[in-house]
Formats: sequence, C-alpha cells, structure tokens
Amino acid sequence: MSRVYNFSAGPAVLPESVLREAADEMLDYRGTGMSVMEMSHRSAAYQAIIDQAEADLRTLMGIPANYKVLFMQGGASQQFAMVPMNLMKNRVADYIITGQWAKKAWQEAAMYGQANAVASSADKTFSYIPDCSDLPISENADYVYICENNTIYGTKFHTLPNTKGKDLVSDVSSCFLSEPVDVTRYGMLYGGVQKNIGPAGVVIAIIREDLIREDVLPGTPTMLRYKTHADNGSMYNTPPAYGIYICGKVFQWLLDMGGLEEMRRRNVEKAKVLYDFLDASTLFHGTVVKKDRSLMNVPFVTGSKETDAAFVAEAAEAGFVNLKGHRTVGGMRASIYNAMPLEGVKKLVAFMDDFEKRRK
Ligand SMILES: *Cc1c(COP(=O)(O)O)cnc(C)c1O
Repeated sequence: MSRVYNFSAGPAVLPESVLREAADEMLDYRGTGMSVMEMSHRSAAYQAIIDQAEADLRTLMGIPANYKVLFMQGGASQQFAMVPMNLMKNRVADYIITGQWAKKAWQEAAMYGQANAVASSADKTFSYIPDCSDLPISENADYVYICENNTIYGTKFHTLPNTKGKDLVSDVSSCFLSEPVDVTRYGMLYGGVQKNIGPAGVVIAIIREDLIREDVLPGTPTMLRYKTHADNGSMYNTPPAYGIYICGKVFQWLLDMGGLEEMRRRNVEKAKVLYDFLDASTLFHGTVVKKDRSLMNVPFVTGSKETDAAFVAEAAEAGFVNLKGHRTVGGMRASIYNAMPLEGVKKLVAFMDDFEKRRK
C-alpha cells in the first residue's frame, strides 16, 4: 500500500487513523455482525453513532443549547436554495460576493426574493475580502450571507462582517473545524463535509432555533425545510448514515488531538511553511492579498502556463497529487486541510524548492 500526499480541494484527505478504524470495523461494527453501511438507521447501534457524533461536534465547537445541529444531504449547493426558502421571511437578503460559491448562492437566492450584492471582490478576481465594517445592509434584510473561506480563490474572512444586527448565514464548507469559532455570532453556519470532515454526501447545518420556522416560503418541499430535520433528529428519512459515522470518527480524532485550539495551532504552523516559501520564491507566487489568506486553500502561480503544467505533472509523479488549480483560475492550488500532515507540506515545499533550482 502506498498513500500519496493528496492536496485535493474536495473530496479531500482524511486522517489515516480514521480510515484504518473504519476498515477494522467494516465487516463487523462492534459485535453487531454487520457494517455500519448495512445497519438500519432506526437501530440502537446507529442511534448511538449519530448521538455521539452530534455530542462530540457540540463539544468541539461549543455549540449553545439554543442551536440545532442538522445532518442533511444534497451538499452545500442545496443550502443555496434551502437558506432563502427557510429564512427569507421579508424576501430580502444581503449577499457578500467573494467568489464562485457566494455568487452561486446569491444567484439561487434571487429566485426566491430580492438578493442584494452589498459587497464584492470580483473587480480583482476575488483575490481579497472586501471591507465589511460598514456595508449598506438593507433595513429589512432577513439575513446577511457570506462564504467564509473561499475554496477556489484561497481567501478567508478573518473578521466577520458587521451585519448591523441582522443574522449572519455562513458557508463554512472549506474551513469547518479548522479553528475555533464563536457560534453565537451566526444565525446559521453550514458546510458540506467533503472538504474537511468526511465523505461527500453529508452537509451539516448549525442553526439557531428561532430561525427554524413553520412559515417557510410557499411550496418549500418537506425535505427542504429545516423544521423537518430538526423535529426528527436528522432522521426524517434515511440519513447519509455511513457518512455521518465517518464524520463522527473525525470529531473523535479532533477531540483526541486537543480540540480546535490545537487544530488551529497546527494549521497556522502548516500554512506558514507554504506561505513563507511562496513569499521568498522567485518562481512561485501566491495570488491572494496577504491579510486575507486562507489557512486551508493556497493558490499559487509561476506566471507561465507551461511551467505550471510541468510543475503539476512532475509533482504528481513525485507523489504530490491534485495540485492543479481550479479550472477557472489556472495555476496551482494546495489544499492543506486538517488531515494534511505538516510533513506533507514540508515535503511539498522541498519539492517546489528543488523544482525552482532546476529551472534556473
Ligand atoms: C465545495 C464547496 C461548495 C459546494 O459543495 P457541494 O457539496 O459540492 O455542493 C460550496 N461552498 C464551498 C465553500 C465549497 O468549498
């Protein structure tokens, strides 16, 4: 068996210990004589798995009792519709456009009401986070929406916007559990888990109870109402059971490591290795304004398409895979999520350094 260093933006690297444990339990989950994949979601064994997963996530993030944790399907993209369908009481919401995911969410919301783009960094290819300290927030906005970590462009809101009292809704798909957060600053945060937590197919939403309402937009399907999932402990229908089980193992892994403070320490240390190299390199350059850099997704370029392509190919040959940048941006992108070890980043940097010297 040989594992590569996988810098994919998602689905992405998972902790090796989690994969090993899942492999050990594959044929017989703790004496049940079956795999978690084969188990009724109404069984006591499965109820214990989902209950523990929720409890551990609450511990990790310090989720207050008046917030619900919902495990759902449909990926982050389904939330682009569920958010307005459930939260647009006045049919007005303000969106901050910092990349493609925010833009998609904004365009989707426009199908249900008045979705205002109150700030955007499109003018400089989303390479920065706009100043959000004094935005023209709409008087009757139901919420203010952000994509907190921009997976494609490699920027992150290091300061949350001033929403002037409106509820903040945040897509945290690519920074989920990468550092501590103050959940009370949000009305809702959500993310697809395939970036930093588990297998694709699960989306987790953390939502303040008063936002889970009966009076959603007319025509909202049962499955797309937060209330349906909240009232049924995320088991209105068959949940993505195996995926949730793996998420639970990742929560355990994080708790064993010391929680999100320790995760942040490691992520900062890891990202610094790569950013310091990029800042000193004469061949490779980061593409993002320094103060807005993401800890998770690091885009970089050489300035030459041919050199970029040669680098991506040689890197893959050497066991550093999925370094090609997003098709809309080009260049390279190293996603260095929680489960990417420091060693992987150090080795990548050594490889980049060697590549640079060979090009001179
Ligand atoms: C990947 C990603 C999405 C889309 O996720 P899907 O689960 O494929 O719908 C949305 N937002 C962000 C920030 C992402 O990184």
